[in-house]
Amino acid sequence: MAEQAGYRVREWGQDPQWESFPIPSPGSHEVLVQVEACGVGLTVLNCIDGNLGDDPGLLPRVPGHELVGRVVEIGTGADPGLEGRRVVAYFYLSCGHCEWCQAGREQRCANLAGQIGVHRDGGYAPWVVLPELNAVPVPDELDPVAATVVPDAVATPVHVADRADITSADRVAVIGAGGGVGIHMVQVARHRGAAVAGLDVTEEKLAEIERLGALAVRSDDFEGLEHGIFEDARPTVVVDLLGTTETAGWALDALGMGGRMVALTTFPGRQAGFSARNMVFREMSILGSRYSHRAQVVEAARLVTEGHVEPIVGSVAGPQEVLGLHEQIRSQRLIGRGALDWR
Ligand SMILES: [Zn+2]
Repeated sequence: MAEQAGYRVREWGQDPQWESFPIPSPGSHEVLVQVEACGVGLTVLNCIDGNLGDDPGLLPRVPGHELVGRVVEIGTGADPGLEGRRVVAYFYLSCGHCEWCQAGREQRCANLAGQIGVHRDGGYAPWVVLPELNAVPVPDELDPVAATVVPDAVATPVHVADRADITSADRVAVIGAGGGVGIHMVQVARHRGAAVAGLDVTEEKLAEIERLGALAVRSDDFEGLEHGIFEDARPTVVVDLLGTTETAGWALDALGMGGRMVALTTFPGRQAGFSARNMVFREMSILGSRYSHRAQVVEAARLVTEGHVEPIVGSVAGPQEVLGLHEQIRSQRLIGRGALDWR
């Protein structure tokens, strides 16, 4: 059996190790993908830390769910039309036949088998076998490094924009706007025609937010941050990518009439309170937003391919340099996403 060299997690919570292991073969309704690039962001680090699953029986595991590559072999029963196609990975291992999957809401799957990079191998190795349902074809002209933002960093904001029904009538505040999901959330909301404010803390991130046509707001101190950040007007939507007591508290105080707060973080133990009186008088909603539909990954690829969303990849690493990227993310220095380039 041919071997490959890549990264594997040996113990949840520890850095993945560079090692040799066999190139897998596709089984029934699976495809073998030659990985071209893989996105690196906070969610990958959460996966490696064991926050989405920490069963030692899952190890060793190749992390990396934002993979882009070419289908080079088709397993029995898989669509032969996928052969040779460039694909991105759909993150969730949904079943494809429950009522949620049938309705095109695969991220709510009743039989969810986990996630790529946690419960199955991902893109931190040059070859990976994916279930056919998780291989989403994207246009061939899409550059592989640029395409790493599609399956999560852009697809997640597309889902948020649908959940909160963002339109040109909205003023959208994005908390944590300089990160991988945030910087693309700013752009997706702009594309919907909304006025957007991006909240973050470093000059570099604020400059990038402004370059993308949004209002850049420094948010070192949520206690002291005014509510009318849009030239005295309150936001109608707040997308909270930090999910702390302070950010959620600010969001619920700042929102105006008909306001929607979107919660996206999954860190355990984070709590925030709300005033029922404010909820009623301003007729507000709190929405949880869970990843994206498969069709929204296709929509994300279209937005990037047609130039409506610029892929922001702040740092690209070669195969053996990925731990340096992890360090940049942990110290919050990276603008947008990182990417691991296998070519
Ligand atoms: Zn399902």
